[in-house]
Amino acid sequence: MTKIIQNEYLFPTLKKYFGYDKFRPQQEEIITNVLEGNDTLVIMPTGGGKSICYQLPALLLDGITLVISPLIALMKDQVDGLNANGIEADYFNSSQDQLQQQEIIDKVVHKKLKLLYVAPESLASLNDILKEKYISCVAIDEAHCISSWGHDFRPSYQQLGFLKRSLPEIPIIALTATADKATRQDILNQLNVSHAKQYLSSFDRKNIHLEVRPAENRVTQILDFVGKRTDESGIIYCLSRKGTETIAAKLKAKGIKATAYHAGLSFDERSQVQEDFIFDKTKVVCATVAFGMGIDKSNVRYVIHYNMPKNIEGYYQEIGRAGRDGLTSNALLFHTYADVIQLRRFTEGATNEDLQNAKLDRMKEFAEATDCRRKILLGYFGEYLEENCGNCDVCENPPRFFDGTIFAQKLLSCIARLKNSEPSGIVIDVLRGAQNASILAKNYQQIKTYGAGKETTWRDWQHYLTQLINQGYCEIAFHKQNALQLTEVAKKVLFEKNKVLLTKPTNIKDQTKKSGKT
Ligand code: ADP
Ligand code: ZN
Repeated sequence: MTKIIQNEYLFPTLKKYFGYDKFRPQQEEIITNVLEGNDTLVIMPTGGGKSICYQLPALLLDGITLVISPLIALMKDQVDGLNANGIEADYFNSSQDQLQQQEIIDKVVHKKLKLLYVAPESLASLNDILKEKYISCVAIDEAHCISSWGHDFRPSYQQLGFLKRSLPEIPIIALTATADKATRQDILNQLNVSHAKQYLSSFDRKNIHLEVRPAENRVTQILDFVGKRTDESGIIYCLSRKGTETIAAKLKAKGIKATAYHAGLSFDERSQVQEDFIFDKTKVVCATVAFGMGIDKSNVRYVIHYNMPKNIEGYYQEIGRAGRDGLTSNALLFHTYADVIQLRRFTEGATNEDLQNAKLDRMKEFAEATDCRRKILLGYFGEYLEENCGNCDVCENPPRFFDGTIFAQKLLSCIARLKNSEPSGIVIDVLRGAQNASILAKNYQQIKTYGAGKETTWRDWQHYLTQLINQGYCEIAFHKQNALQLTEVAKKVLFEKNKVLLTKPTNIKDQTKKSGKT
């Protein structure tokens, strides 16, 4: 019954408070699910329209919606924006004094608020109002922060599991832009809402052309690329401050309006760079990853990665800053093993070193792909693209394939016989009949595929395996010591004799050079 009444109000509320006539894909279903009192997980790319998914229900529910958000710096802006739309909202965090905080608690008690933004570490101070009589919904923004599998783990998010325990009747809606499968499951488990309905929006940004080039002479390549587009705005991401400054200087020397941006600049200097970029006074910003958060510029025409990002989440987020206006844009990544090695060095000794390395491996696989890059990118986020995209360098310049079914069958059946529980190194060792201690200790020489791939080199197996992962026949379970696991489609190869096309291992550099088109 409540559902029908609430649905009637959805469109008028959307129009009245947000000024929109239509919902974006999934928004209406998500909002309805929340209004029905169900726990919900929303995975939607940045700019997709996540906020309305909890802001609109907040307006239709009795009590307040508590919004957990990690970014204290952005809370005020968000609340100001809501207030400007006539929505009663406020925030609660450690930047406020006790008096201000008490005023907000009073507002909650007297039902004067619809939304309250709160930093996770401030939740403890809200104990008195964390009651079902005050709260109708809890929204958890940037929900990937709860998971150490994610790329932006925040310890303060880890206590949020108590919310479902102390407010069992209150629906939780968790939202994030970036979550691979493992992270997604981890979010749900930690929030104690494993039954939550998941809404996965398309991550496809069709207008962004994807390209990877070998990094030889990359500065020259960049000068050439940017030189052909002096009227267009672009971002060049570098790993180091020095890199940003070197490239900016070289571009400037060519008469291009370029600036460096990195954490070594003062707050004012950084604000100035951002402003100049937004108002087109600067055309190119050479930046470390710090640049771009919260910048809403629709006509960024290209994003270049001078260095390889440390994972696909980061890469996707960064290239996503191009082409927000929907017009043709370019993402150009330079690939070299030197970067991979340096990135590995950064992860050394980190608490989640294995995880970070596994993610780096996926990034590397993307860079070395012989299949449609968009398929790989979307596959990473659990999205399956049926056809090749036609808008990436591999699609435009495909490598030559041979019938690799036998190799695929050997690899996949070996993974199956190892019960989806071993990482790629062991799988290849078993195939090659290796005699090392870890193989013998587990008695893997008894396995039927042991030694079935002796005649093929380690490097070649690695190459084939990368392609099988990229083609979706198997995947790496980051949360299980990077074990290789078969996917559903693997059965088609193992039991229905489906053909698998692979490319011969070649010198990667030579292979991508041919596709050096912009
Ligand atoms: P996210 O949090 O997913 O990054 P936002 O919630 O900030 O995205 O929304 C991105 C932009 O899209 C905002 O300017 C928002 O007002 C707009 N938007 C959201 N929903 C709609 C809609 N149904 N129609 C038009 N614009 C919308
Ligand atoms: Zn493609």
